[in-house]
Order: sequence, then structure tokens, then C-alpha cells
Amino acid sequence: MPLQQALQQEAERLHKKLVNVGYNEGYCKIIAPLTLKIEQLKKEKNAVVLAHSYQTPDIVYSVADFIGDSYQLSIAAQKTDAEVIVFSGVRFMAETAKILNPSKTVLLPAPGAGCSLADAITGEDVRALKKKYPGKPVVSYVNTTAEVKAESDSCCTSSNALKIVESFPGDELIFLPDKFMMQNLQEQTSKKLIGWDGTCIVHEDFSADKIDWFRKQHKGVKVLSHSECPPSVTHASDYVGGTNGMIDYVEKTEAPSFMIVTECGLADRMRVEHPEKAFIGMCSLCPYMKMNTLPMIEQVLRDPKEGQIILVDEDVRVKAEKALMKMFEISNAS
Ligand code: SF4
Repeated sequence: MPLQQALQQEAERLHKKLVNVGYNEGYCKIIAPLTLKIEQLKKEKNAVVLAHSYQTPDIVYSVADFIGDSYQLSIAAQKTDAEVIVFSGVRFMAETAKILNPSKTVLLPAPGAGCSLADAITGEDVRALKKKYPGKPVVSYVNTTAEVKAESDSCCTSSNALKIVESFPGDELIFLPDKFMMQNLQEQTSKKLIGWDGTCIVHEDFSADKIDWFRKQHKGVKVLSHSECPPSVTHASDYVGGTNGMIDYVEKTEAPSFMIVTECGLADRMRVEHPEKAFIGMCSLCPYMKMNTLPMIEQVLRDPKEGQIILVDEDVRVKAEKALMKMFEISNAS
């Protein structure tokens, strides 16, 4: 196909997907050469792009091979036959992909894409907690570094946290690092949870007052909040869970409108995938998640730099993999 025709077709494909989230024809024409180039590099390098739902729609709907939350993407990373995994997300997610795929090259386009939760606790902190509470199992949220996972008995996600916590014997365990997720979970389990003072900079800022205000303006609105939000917010919500659970809820629920209380990328994803439903504010941008861009994805595929190539010490990796596999095992048990 002549180049001009291929570019025109690509721009039309992108515009069709992205028009509901405010991307105009002109922008789609500008990014079309880049998305075609990325597709070509993916073939040449035998690479896949995994994109978290919080990534910008121009990444999610142009070059991503898999879109999902951290749990879904870790499963996709486990199953892929590709030799190279480009993780359009944040560092702990790319590290998780590397832990599960030691023989593959895992690339993070924006090397500075961290996470306030993952940065809240170190392996040394977990070792100190284990000394303070000897014999107590440690469950860590996947939003942690490889070193913290390596010190844990199991990982968990927002969707399987309760099941994982309940699966351990005894009536007390260490749950880290998200204090709000721990508080929300504490309301659902009789086990005593020993927490940590970590928070997500996006979810800690939402407030119940704003939800009340929106409820007055939009009669019948269904409010969905992430379990990383403070309990005052989750108590004011109709549904509390992770990103995948929110998508499910929206698909199965009839309502005049929905308010998605999490990172804005998820509401954008729902606007694209459910143009027949109405979504109202409030969401907030994660500065780390939004560091990845299409030009960075093209560059990292073509010529990855130090810092973009994910490396995990083998001793740490083996222990961290054990904690992840424990999560898969418990999560898949009926
Ligand atoms: S949204 Fe919060 S938990 Fe997710 S990457 Fe950003 S800071 Fe971390």
C-alpha cells in the first residue's frame, strides 16, 4: 500500500477510537507516522506493548497489545511469547513483568515513572516489621518494589486482597504499604491487620464532600471509587474496588451517569468503550503514569537506554516470584 494511503488509513483508525476523548483529526494525522513506526518496530523486535488503563488514550488505543490493571497485565506478561515487553505503566509494574519473565527484555519507556505507594516502603522496612511482629504473615500490594515483594509471603491486588488475607492462618497479619486500602479491608475481615503509612498521591486527595456535591447535581449517578481512597470516600460510594471491577460494574449497571473516582485514564477508557453511557468528573491525573508518551515508546523499542531496561537481582527476583505465584495460586483457587 502506498505510504500516503497507509498514513491516511491509520489516522482514520485512530480518530474513530479517540474522538470521544477529545482527540481531533489533526492530532491523529500527526501521530499516525509514529504509531505505524511503532507497529513496524514491534514486528522487527518481536515485541509487545502492555499498557495500564491509566495511560493516555493515544497509547491505549494505538499501539497497546494488552490493556488492563496491574493484575491483568502481569498475567499477560506471563503468557506472552514475545521476546521484548514494553511496559507502558510505572516501574513496579515493569519490574513485575521482569520477575515473571527473567529471560525476556522488559523495557519501561519513562525511566522516572515511579509510584508514591511503591516508594513508601523498602525491603529494610519490611525486615524490621517482621522482627517487630515475628511469625506474622506479610501480604504486600503489587504496588511495591521487587525487594519488598521478596520479603512478602504473598502479593495481592485491590481485587483479590480480601481473598488473600483470609487465606492465611492466624488472626493477625502485616498488610502493606497502603494505609487506606488496609483500613478499607479491615472493615471486611475479622483478622487484625498491621499496616504501613503509604498512600497513593492520586487517591488520597478525593473527598466525600465533592461526591455529595456531584450527587446533588446529577440525580441517580452511580459513584465508583478505588480501594486506595480513604474510607470517608469509599463509604460515600456505590461500588469500591480495582479498575477491572469498576469496568465490570459499569458494563453491568444501568444508570443515568457514572462518576469514576480514580485516575482519569480509566474514565477516558470507559468513554471510548462505552460511548452510550455518561461519565461525569471527578478524576485526577497520576503524574507518574502520564510520563510515558508515544515518542518514548518508539525510542525505547528502537534504542533502549540504561534505566529503561529493567534489571532485577536474581536472588530478589526468585523470592519476589514466589510471592507473586502465591497470589496467583490463592486467587485462582475456588
Ligand atoms: S495512581 Fe497512585 S498507585 Fe497508581 S501509579 Fe500513580 S501514584 Fe502509584
